[in-house]
Amino acid sequence: MRSHIFFDFDRTLIDTDALKAEQAHRIAKITQLSVEDIHAGMRQYIDSIQNHLLFSVEGYAQFLSDLYGVSPGDVLKIYLTDCNYIADYVFPEVYEVLQTLSENNVEMGIYSTANPGHQRIKVEHSGVLKYIPWHKVVIAPNKLAPEIVAKVPNKVTLIDDDLEVLTTFQRVRPDVEVLWINRKQSMSSFSGKMIYSLRELLTSESAV
Ligand SMILES: [Mg+2]
Repeated sequence: MRSHIFFDFDRTLIDTDALKAEQAHRIAKITQLSVEDIHAGMRQYIDSIQNHLLFSVEGYAQFLSDLYGVSPGDVLKIYLTDCNYIADYVFPEVYEVLQTLSENNVEMGIYSTANPGHQRIKVEHSGVLKYIPWHKVVIAPNKLAPEIVAKVPNKVTLIDDDLEVLTTFQRVRPDVEVLWINRKQSMSSFSGKMIYSLRELLTSESAV
């Protein structure tokens, strides 16, 4: 078993697409807009910021407010305070796997690209901090920036769903073992190891 593992967060530990759909549904309900309006608002907000690294829930709430006249505070509640639903979107095997790794004294961290504000709330409400300490949670708007890449400890295993992250690490941090979590059964090719579920960290020979 590996001794030190860093996990990506979105689409690796948590089903981000399903979580976003739930958030759109909740925002529609609290603002009394339709889910279609909320999706349209999100698309327009993303277009307006040009660069997805600039996404923030505060900016999005203000954008929806300007667009539809809704209260930004109502929108932010869904993201920042009334957040107990977030744990429902952690992938089914995650707690069991983290528990077993933790019992085997495997050190674990998180390595996530996101605007830190909402992402810290997501991580906190996901329940994974029972196994992963805050000081091993790295969140940055661009985790491939050299100064962020440098925060990953030597010789860890990095698990991510994003091939760009993995191939970048293969190039600039060859000491790090990269492992592709291919939850959507993508046919993309990758020169490193691949798993379909984190459960393979406990069982599969190819992943050990
Ligand atoms: Mg990801």
